[in-house]
Amino acid sequence: MSEECCSQTQKSLKANCPVNGNKGKRVPTITLKSLLKPRALETLNPESNYFFCDSMDCSVVYFNQQGQTFLTDEVKVPVFQKDRGGQVPVCYCFNWTRDRILQEIQQTNHSTAESSIRTHIQAGRCGCEVNNPQGSCCLANVRKEVRDK
Ligand SMILES: [Zn+2]
Repeated sequence: MSEECCSQTQKSLKANCPVNGNKGKRVPTITLKSLLKPRALETLNPESNYFFCDSMDCSVVYFNQQGQTFLTDEVKVPVFQKDRGGQVPVCYCFNWTRDRILQEIQQTNHSTAESSIRTHIQAGRCGCEVNNPQGSCCLANVRKEVRDK
């Protein structure tokens, strides 16, 4: 059984960000259709493969191999990998923000985020490909966030 949702993402396909050279993972086009602001969406090439740059210090969120880029201010939501703010979701589907994760740990010395999200994934409720800018499952980010608290 796969523990990650959205496993249809072609994780093996990668390309380099035209701004900082970081290797970006392929994201489904539906992710861009869902999360780009209207003006940016008007320039989307649906035939193109888009990739996600996860570098904290690069403002490119999506790029393709023709050099087109979409920046953080062209995406409807703050991007976890590029914004250290407490209100930024780690899990976009069920709104586990950094602050919510931290608060629970401070109050109970324990995080239920991962088990709660996992339950929803198993019930088929997660929609990372349309909610999470990275276009794939948030669990690895949640685990890291809990570990780092
Ligand atoms: Zn980049």
